[in-house]
Amino acid sequence: MSRTRAVNSVTVFCGASAGLHSVHTKVAARLGSRLARAGFGVVYGGASIGLMGVLADAALAEGGQVTGVIPRDLVKHEIAHTGLTRLHIAASMHERKFLMAGLGDAFVALPGGLGTTEEFLEALTWAQLGLHQKPCFLLDACGYYRHLLAFFSHAAAEGFLSGADVERVQICDEPDDVVERLLSFERSMCDGAEM
Ligand code: AMP
Repeated sequence: MSRTRAVNSVTVFCGASAGLHSVHTKVAARLGSRLARAGFGVVYGGASIGLMGVLADAALAEGGQVTGVIPRDLVKHEIAHTGLTRLHIAASMHERKFLMAGLGDAFVALPGGLGTTEEFLEALTWAQLGLHQKPCFLLDACGYYRHLLAFFSHAAAEGFLSGADVERVQICDEPDDVVERLLSFERSMCDGAEM
């Protein structure tokens, strides 16, 4: 009897820019290829530019299934990727985020700007509200997110964030760490599931 995977696809939030340091490009490419090799589909913002394009190309190069979700208004601006397994054209940014959240079984944030941060924080707030139980990984390669993490600690120290909410953010140093944790999350879900 075939068993459904606990994690089929992973929603990745990342920059529409590539950043100034090549390490970010390398990490995005490595995450894309590692997810694909592990058999996870990738869901992302559907662009061909910046870290988004790097992530998608790397996953596709490994034969991965890559689904993009881009708002109609951004198809030209962010140059929608034309080689994806599937591209959803969303009517609005809100629809994009809703679709991206629903299509993935876990969330990962690579480096990015306001859009990436907003998307990842929304995934966290929805988890905080109990709207989903999907794992949330922050790929903090080279300490890119150290200031955001310092803010979380500050908010907890000031009584605006619970320890459980801070702990919900799974901080990873590198893509292999994300994939290993996804695989062990899968194992734990399967151990608890009925066969
Ligand atoms: P950035 O991290 O700012 O480079 O943006 C990454 C992606 O997030 C891009 O595809 C942006 O279009 C998208 N984005 C920008 N603003 C928002 C927002 N308020 N909510 C969700 N996504 C956004």
